[in-house]
Amino acid sequence: MLEIRDLHVRLEEEDKPILKGLSLTVEAGKVHAIMGPNGSGKSTLSYVLAGRDGYEVTGGSATLDGEDLLEKEPDARAAAGLFLAFQYPVEIPGVNNMTFIRTALNAQRKARGEAEISAPDFLKQVRETAKSLNIGPEMLKRAINVGFSGGEKKRNEILQMAMLAPKMCILDETDSGLDVDAMKLVAEGVNALRAPDRGFLVITHYQRLLDHIVPDVVHIMVDGRIVETGGAELAARVEREGYGALVKATA
Ligand code: ADP
Ligand code: MG
Ligand code: MG
Repeated sequence: MLEIRDLHVRLEEEDKPILKGLSLTVEAGKVHAIMGPNGSGKSTLSYVLAGRDGYEVTGGSATLDGEDLLEKEPDARAAAGLFLAFQYPVEIPGVNNMTFIRTALNAQRKARGEAEISAPDFLKQVRETAKSLNIGPEMLKRAINVGFSGGEKKRNEILQMAMLAPKMCILDETDSGLDVDAMKLVAEGVNALRAPDRGFLVITHYQRLLDHIVPDVVHIMVDGRIVETGGAELAARVEREGYGALVKATA
């Protein structure tokens, strides 16, 4: 489903290589986790896949169901079924949360040649999904993420994700800054979306999120590359032993 091959990326501003030959395949129905020390390039990977400015791909490829992602504009990537929940969700003053989700959903439908969702259907769906994430009607009406707590922002990202029903979901440190209860809500929201035709890439520094979203495959990323791949037990090992040994082995 998501296939990343020998990806090389540098920061345009500083002429600094960040991703140095990263390869990874996420199959449909699977949850892959990427763990790694701070600064190893995890967020850079998510930004590059989303199509954020400021990064230059100097080699390699990334495809979703065989379609080249890196060539596409960010909205076309979303229409192709890619969704990213960012480490730092942006606040968008003046844009109503619910209107935003409806606009995004209809843009995606349009790109696929589907009709717009009816207002009653949308309302029903967004309210039900929001309720399951403990997001009240007043939060749906507020400007996107403005004045939201850390936990509310992360839950709001999961709401957007659930509504857009993407093929491939990438979550970058969705657990950072969350207390245990908020993290469990987020994890439940993600688990409810696990499906045979959907893949997940869960990026996290700590293992604790992976106690709640149990991954099929765990990759360890150090200095812009995957240095080790294993099952869920690899996350537990890293938690016990730290990243030190893995970093040393690749230095
Ligand atoms: P991680 O998410 O694994 O902590 P990042 O992708 O955020 O790693 O960062 C990878 C490296 O790139 C770090 O050395 C970081 O300092 C650097 N970096 C990322 N974005 C920028 C930026 N906009 N300006 C300068 N350095 C950056
Ligand atoms: Mg970081
Ligand atoms: Mg990061």
